[in-house]
Amino acid sequence: MYDVIVSGAGPAGSKCSEVIAKAGFKVALIEKDVNWRKPCGGGVSARIMTKYYPQLKALNPVIKNGAIMFSGDYSKLEYNWEGLGADSIVMDRLEMDNLMRSVAVDAGAELFDKNISFDFVYKDDKIIGIKTKTSSGIKEYLGKIIVIADGMSSKLAVRSDLRGKWKINNLGMGKCAIMEGNTNLEKDRMYIFFRPYKGYGWIFPIDDKRFNIGCGTFEEANLDYNLNDIYEEFLNAPYIKEYLPEQNFKEIWKGSYPLSAIGVLEKSLIGENIMIIGDAAGFVSPISGEGIHPGIVSGQIAAETAINALNEGVISKKTLKPYKQHPNIKKIVRNFKLKRSLVEFFYMNNGKNLNTMFKLAEIDEEFRRQVINMFFFNATPSEEFLNRVRTSSL
Ligand SMILES: Cc1cc2nc3c(=O)[nH]c(=O)nc-3n(C[C@H](O)[C@H](O)[C@H](O)COP(=O)(O)OP(=O)(O)OC[C@H]3O[C@@H](n4cnc5c(N)ncnc54)[C@H](O)[C@@H]3O)c2cc1C
Repeated sequence: MYDVIVSGAGPAGSKCSEVIAKAGFKVALIEKDVNWRKPCGGGVSARIMTKYYPQLKALNPVIKNGAIMFSGDYSKLEYNWEGLGADSIVMDRLEMDNLMRSVAVDAGAELFDKNISFDFVYKDDKIIGIKTKTSSGIKEYLGKIIVIADGMSSKLAVRSDLRGKWKINNLGMGKCAIMEGNTNLEKDRMYIFFRPYKGYGWIFPIDDKRFNIGCGTFEEANLDYNLNDIYEEFLNAPYIKEYLPEQNFKEIWKGSYPLSAIGVLEKSLIGENIMIIGDAAGFVSPISGEGIHPGIVSGQIAAETAINALNEGVISKKTLKPYKQHPNIKKIVRNFKLKRSLVEFFYMNNGKNLNTMFKLAEIDEEFRRQVINMFFFNATPSEEFLNRVRTSSL
């Protein structure tokens, strides 16, 4: 019998398990496969190392202090944020996820690898645990609180009836690889290539030799573009060759995966003794697809809520509600809603507004400041700003 069962040892589940175990509670952390590398760009705010994982510093990640972005017609916007608190790092997900798991285990969580959770254990119609498939048969883990953290493919999230299955229009689809070789990339920059359709490509240098490269589509563009085709096209595009002139990069790993494109599923976050966190609940920023940091935040807050409920001795929808109502969760929800409201604007008329925005930013310093604030510091663009883009002849 556990106090808390966490299904999924990704960033969200590992952080959640760590915090609960550290408070002295018994935690089972259930993972499908610790050798699976989550398909991901691996780009994450460097703040993660100060607030959540100082242990990541030991991996010596290269600090990124700027970005080079292109709109669909290759108008360029370059920004160096050195000293402005927007630094990022790029992690190999296999390395990072295993570090986060070991931090949870060191805090006292019990990690059960090669367990695929697929259903709940019920008693008198109440959920009292989860069932997993293992090589030696079906296992049951019983617990007072269940935290669903097993990402986009979560079976438990659907079985809980808290949310339905994903619809293709609500998703992003991404394909990426980690490659190694000599490049013309600056290792302290992130490279982003917006497309004329809903999607973008990226190159995130990891260190001197390795880089993460990938691209994706979202919403209805998932149906209009074949992910494998656009990935090959992206890798071989002339503007990419400028940065990657060599022919024979060593492909260390490659994968593709879906991600939520619609923001946090606010109504799905809690049940009687269940909380859903991370990707499984839509904690992924629309447009950018950034979900590592929001997932960790959701894991931390769900953990604090579980600790309070366990201390109080009452597990119910009422005692789990503070997770959903936490100001930082509300802030993420609001921020993602803003991003979503900008999607149509950005990509209207084959990405024309994005092209115009980048062109205006090149000739007008004040306008550029507003674009930067919107992209990197989550500022809401003013109506005047949006009108200027709409009516510009550039
Ligand atoms: C192509 C792509 C690129 C991305 N790039 C970025 C990026 O650059 N930066 C960023 O911040 N975000 C990025 N994201 C999003 C990011 O990957 C996720 O938001 C983040 O991994 C969410 O963490 P999580 O812990 O919620 O879920 P996950 O990382 O998906 O972890 C879920 C865990 O649960 C396990 N699991 C799954 N099913 C089961 C099961 N049935 N039983 C037991 N365990 C199970 C998995 O093995 C995994 O360890 C990208 C996503 C994609 C698809």
